[in-house]
Amino acid sequence: MPGFELFGVEERKEVNDVLETGILMRYGFDGPRKGIWKALELEEAIKKTFGCDYAQLTSSGTAALTTAMAALGIGSGDEVIMPSFTFVASFEAVLGVGAIPVLVDIDETLTLNPAAVRAAITPKTKCVMPVHMCGSMADLDALQAICKEHKLILLEDACQSIGGTYKGKALGTIGDAGTFSFDFVKMITCAEGGVVMTNNKDVYTKSDGYTDHGHDHLGVDRGADLHPFIGYNYRISELHAAVGLAQIRKLDTFLALQKKNNKALRAYLETIPEITFRVVPEGGDDSCSFLSWFLPTAELTQAVIDAMKAEGILAGNFYWYANNWHYIRKWDHLKQAITLNRISNEQEVALKALQHAEFPVSDAIMSRCVSTAISLVWTDEQIKEKGEKMVEVIRKVIG
Ligand SMILES: *Cc1c(COP(=O)(O)O)cnc(C)c1O
Repeated sequence: MPGFELFGVEERKEVNDVLETGILMRYGFDGPRKGIWKALELEEAIKKTFGCDYAQLTSSGTAALTTAMAALGIGSGDEVIMPSFTFVASFEAVLGVGAIPVLVDIDETLTLNPAAVRAAITPKTKCVMPVHMCGSMADLDALQAICKEHKLILLEDACQSIGGTYKGKALGTIGDAGTFSFDFVKMITCAEGGVVMTNNKDVYTKSDGYTDHGHDHLGVDRGADLHPFIGYNYRISELHAAVGLAQIRKLDTFLALQKKNNKALRAYLETIPEITFRVVPEGGDDSCSFLSWFLPTAELTQAVIDAMKAEGILAGNFYWYANNWHYIRKWDHLKQAITLNRISNEQEVALKALQHAEFPVSDAIMSRCVSTAISLVWTDEQIKEKGEKMVEVIRKVIG
């Protein structure tokens, strides 16, 4: 998963180009920047690499989601259907634009369960937001059909699935808009950064202005810009974009390594008949950033986690069910609506209702799931050692 593992001379070269001119901002300073436009160059590379018409860089993945929602017209009181298993940023962005996160069950794809989405639709539903967790994707055909039938927006949180595809299209380019994160642990890193991808010119134009104080970017210089709407500062810097530019050029290398290492580790776990694997929807190609696997029961899974910990091999294995960041079970701050400033009454009521919401279907899946992060720099010898040790520990527990 993390591009930072292969950070090197290429990234330093791109950053140095920017340091040479000292123009760290992506807009303006046309003369002194001497033709160096790293953010623009990265946006072009994103469009070409992932096959979308427009790309707007942002300062983070959270900023990208927030921007996409604003540009898509999602706001006060609108309901956004999203999965119970995701990173906290997904609901932060929903709350940030004044909307209401409606959390629903996942299935063995580890992403939105289409039947649960259908059951959650109300007259206030505005958007369905699948989160393509851990490198692989939701059943996008099923979700697109639901969105079409109910005239809903499809926004893909593809922050964790850079390089995954569905029916030949890059994740993040299939819905009305999609986002990537380029934070430090993502597949491509800028240190901090993100992008909104879309094929809709209006969504792009709005994203462009929204991330830069509403500037229309049509003036002869920034001072001559008009402000057709209120925006914020979610800009990426040239230094961050420079790192991303070097990283995106290595994407094919990252993906090839990840797929090879994932497959090699999986072969070890496949020798245990009790283990099953995450379901990838038909036509999907997993980016392979994680190997997600299931044991038959929650008790056995907890016991395997405990045994891996005791043997000192737990690092890089995620038991999301008990983790504070990724699964509804532990999101107490959300369920108690603990915010620093006042939120709308509608939002507060919806969040507090989560205290009584139950997710038995998701619990039954997440309590049996372990995701193993795949490193780009494992040697064959290390994979062998890891695989053999994992198999030994798991076998000992399941007997
Ligand atoms: C990382 C991530 C984000 C947000 O990204 P940041 O760049 O850290 O703000 C959003 N959604 C998911 C699923 C993520 O994993």
